[in-house]
Amino acid sequence: PMVREHFLPDDFKAPKIIAKLNANENPYGPPMTAQKAVAESVKYGNRYAWKEMYDLVEKIAKKEGVTKEHIMMGPGSSDLLEKVALVLFMNGGNVVSADPCYMSLIKVAESVGATWKAVPCKDDWSHDLKAMEAAVDKDTKLVYICNPNNPTGAITTGKELLDFCSRVSEKVPIFVDEAYIELAVGADTQSMVSLLQKNKNVIVARTFSKIMGMAGIRVGYMAAQPEFIEQISKITRGGMGISYTSIFAASASMDDKDFQGNTRKLNHEAKQYLYTELDKRGYKYIPSYTNFVLFPIPFSGKELLGKMAAKGVAVRAFDIQDKPWCRVSIGTMDEMKAFVGALGQFS
Ligand code: PLP
Repeated sequence: PMVREHFLPDDFKAPKIIAKLNANENPYGPPMTAQKAVAESVKYGNRYAWKEMYDLVEKIAKKEGVTKEHIMMGPGSSDLLEKVALVLFMNGGNVVSADPCYMSLIKVAESVGATWKAVPCKDDWSHDLKAMEAAVDKDTKLVYICNPNNPTGAITTGKELLDFCSRVSEKVPIFVDEAYIELAVGADTQSMVSLLQKNKNVIVARTFSKIMGMAGIRVGYMAAQPEFIEQISKITRGGMGISYTSIFAASASMDDKDFQGNTRKLNHEAKQYLYTELDKRGYKYIPSYTNFVLFPIPFSGKELLGKMAAKGVAVRAFDIQDKPWCRVSIGTMDEMKAFVGALGQFS
């Protein structure tokens, strides 16, 4: 793997955080409509939310143009990434993915005995789909694609990916993690969920943590062929980790198109501001289709984390291809100003 992450020392005493830009969260959520729904849900907390879960699944299935048998719910998409990894790799095999990419599924797969076939991204940080296809062998149980990708923020175009998924899913299931897809502005993005109607063996993971601003409320789902959902649910049950509260919040936020549009707009504006400030200071960055930006830094990740934290700014630091990089989430405009201010220490 080309990526190594740096962390603050355990005994580091950080001042109050004024800009939390380390977890790609939505600074505007949860939407007021969801907050009201949560308050409403509390009084039902003595009951199992079977019917309400069923209704939410129906609503999601309708939105995605599939049947409810195609949908499995989880407390965040992490839960589903992990369940798929556990079930598919409990007897070994390998998983093919880009490097760098989001590591949740791969780490769990490795921990139960799978090997990771890491395929370097192309120069523009998009997926090298040709090389990924060539990496698939008889032991490959899954291809994992995170699009837009984390930690790079880069995108692989929908057209290319549709073609790849259509063909390669004839040989092996393809898991497409679309956590950030709603935030991709100005790119050819399309969900791979349409391939389910064409009977393709793809699995699409979506989350309420990003565009809906509900990372702490924990709702996600995956859409896949009913046989695939059955295979996973035989061993690990879906939906049991979701509370009345999260169901009500999810349903309300799905309806709140204003909130989603506003998040997209504010994220885009704050990102443009960040780009301008990085340009002024000579930092080159990877154009991002998400709510975070990755850029190389001419000092160590350890120095970055320490000096940022001392100013109350939380970011992430990675070594990628043995060079140090900063990943900064897009927060509010005030948070981005705090970040840019703190970056001034390094020039
Ligand atoms: N997938 C990607 C690409 C992510 O970046 C994240 C979280 O940051 C997740 C999945 C998991 O998110 P959650 O479990 O909150 O749905």
